Amino acid sequence: MYAIKVELKLNNCQKTLMDRHLGFSRFCYNFALSIYNQLDHKQYQGSSSKKIDLIKKIFTNVTKKNQDFSWTNQMSSRVYQNAFRALKAAFSRYWKGLGGLPRFKKKKNPGSFTVDSSNGVILQLGGYRIKLPTLGIFRTTESIPKCASQTYTISKKGERYYVSFAINAELIPPMSHEVFEAVGIDVNLSDGKYCVISDGTMIAFPKPLKAAITKLEKLQYHNRNKQLGNRKQKISPSNNSRKYYKKLAELHKKVADARNDFLQKLTTKLAIKYRHIKLETLNIKGMMANGKLAMHIADASFYKFKTLLINKANTYGGFVESVNQWYPSSKLCSNCGNKKLDLKLSERVYHCEQCNLNLDRDLNSAINLKLAKQEHITNRVGSTRIEACGHDTADGHGKSGCDPARIEFELGRAPSSNNARKQEANIKVDNFG
Ligand SMILES: [Zn+2]
Repeated sequence: MYAIKVELKLNNCQKTLMDRHLGFSRFCYNFALSIYNQLDHKQYQGSSSKKIDLIKKIFTNVTKKNQDFSWTNQMSSRVYQNAFRALKAAFSRYWKGLGGLPRFKKKKNPGSFTVDSSNGVILQLGGYRIKLPTLGIFRTTESIPKCASQTYTISKKGERYYVSFAINAELIPPMSHEVFEAVGIDVNLSDGKYCVISDGTMIAFPKPLKAAITKLEKLQYHNRNKQLGNRKQKISPSNNSRKYYKKLAELHKKVADARNDFLQKLTTKLAIKYRHIKLETLNIKGMMANGKLAMHIADASFYKFKTLLINKANTYGGFVESVNQWYPSSKLCSNCGNKKLDLKLSERVYHCEQCNLNLDRDLNSAINLKLAKQEHITNRVGSTRIEACGHDTADGHGKSGCDPARIEFELGRAPSSNNARKQEANIKVDNFG
């Protein structure tokens, strides 16, 4: 099972249709939530799910028949069914302690709505068209494969519309990696780099992303005093502030898109090429405290990089090891193992007094990660492919007499110590299904 998300190519008429349904979905959700909040919960016992079912009955039998709400009858009935379902899900998350109390949806955030087919899956013929239940056929900006799905979610971000749906199929990973032995990756934002790999490859920080961030910062600075009205003081938003917030949303989206694009492409490339990747366990909180670095670190989204890389290594049959955060990867000499007592951040070239090594600081650190011994490894995630002979197995025990076709998946393998387990507990692994 995996999900597909593509942008819709809509004409003005279709955009209006989608906007109206976004509004309808928000209306239903807020309607149900406002009645729910007004209920006397001491008098009416029962689960929130049952109460919402009752509210839905009121909506179907009373509200929809009221003349003032006759417009709701022109809308897809699947949208309101799913809006009530979404509210139920929000309450169930709340009761499980996974989320806050459901809040009203705001017009400012267009959000999404869901349509599903009431009679089975809908067959998509593939290509640049998609059939959405109860809404019609729409064009897409990317080609979609021949597939079938029952539920479709339409979302709006900035001025763009997207559709996402899940299909019941498996991605087939390639069975061989170009580089079989371990590599270390040092993620370090300096001199326009994003990260350095121990084989000498340097990955540059993408220029479009940098440009988009600069543009966003400038726009925010020039409009630092603008307000989108003030409801308490009864000041309505000015036209200029409306324009600004629209532009701001577009730019935020541009930054997010550029960053996502970069991280997705990079992690796919790495996961296909390298079988065994060693990464540092990042102490992000400690780094954020260092003010100047904070913006860049937050922006580089190390956390997302690592999560994506682990997911993809798992899909493509490789694995990722985390090296203990106290392992002095930047202070060690990758040639003779000598450890420097102090190393300034400004020293960009690592110079070793013992063996006279001169090496780029980040490359030295990446090689040290590659050389990190088993006792420094706190966690290993990914898939273990057991090879017939010649190579070690990923768990280092070198099991023999194995079947090359056998693939063992190990997810969140138990790390060597309790402490390490705590550190790595926040890395979630999604094995695409
Ligand atoms: Zn040395």
